[in-house]
Amino acid sequence: MAKHLAKDAGKAATASLGWWKAHRFLLLRRSCQLLIIALFMIGPALGVLRGNLSASTLFDTVPLTDPLILLQTIAAGHWPELAALLGGVIVVGFYAVLAPRVFCAWVCPLNMVTDLAAWLRRKLGIKLSYRWSSNLRYWLLPVLLLGSAVSGSVLWSWIDPVAALHRGLVFGMGAGWVLILLVFLLDLVLVEHGWCGHLCPLGATYGVIGRKSLVRITATNREACNKCMDCFNVCPEPEVLRQPLKGGDRKVMSQDCISCGRCIDVCSEEVLEFKIRIGANKDEG
Ligand code: SF4
Ligand code: SF4
Repeated sequence: MAKHLAKDAGKAATASLGWWKAHRFLLLRRSCQLLIIALFMIGPALGVLRGNLSASTLFDTVPLTDPLILLQTIAAGHWPELAALLGGVIVVGFYAVLAPRVFCAWVCPLNMVTDLAAWLRRKLGIKLSYRWSSNLRYWLLPVLLLGSAVSGSVLWSWIDPVAALHRGLVFGMGAGWVLILLVFLLDLVLVEHGWCGHLCPLGATYGVIGRKSLVRITATNREACNKCMDCFNVCPEPEVLRQPLKGGDRKVMSQDCISCGRCIDVCSEEVLEFKIRIGANKDEG
């Protein structure tokens, strides 16, 4: 089988598996992202989710705190309230157990913007991309914490496009749209997956948190792979798929995988699936 063109990624899966099966994880996570925004919007009336992505309360009881904001608050010398600390522990515990970077694919609203840029890139056949190290984001983390310590303020909140988009969608868009547009243009024109795959310190934080998590994309049926490259073409972190499809461990163990399941959707040969990693070593070989 010859390699498919990037713009045709998923066409073979739609033809052989049907439209729903070839889009199910995409639709499920879009529904999840939009539902969370809707819950924040009706939060004051219903009391399901109140607050914002940085700090919120579920059912007026369970605190939820953005771990990166929490770390920066502490680095800036402001000791958080007990509820904020507890909210951080709950969020970290949830994402540490579930799957790598679930926040990125299933919660973060900016993911819809970066996915749109990536999709347009494929459709327009834009190949040109500057080369940046994908480790840049992991260097930005200590830089942000140091900056917060030196400035005594939560630095990330000044430039955070994730919070800007979320605030814009829930409370009305102000000047934050400029930030969102810059991220979109960065991804579309300059660097492929530039923001989520190279820069975003929040994505890096969730990567570190989820590195030992349980649910992993697994190339269970890799013998059936016909090397069409559709999964590589849609994956926002394509490097993570290389080893599991080649040999050895079939699981995607990289913390950079965002657990979006899009690689499962677009594979006409049904090579990949989500699997709990306990006991999965018997599949290696
Ligand atoms: S990397 Fe950042 S912007 Fe991208 S999806 Fe994750 S949290 Fe959102
Ligand atoms: S390996 Fe699959 S689940 Fe992970 S980021 Fe790539 S497309 Fe998404």
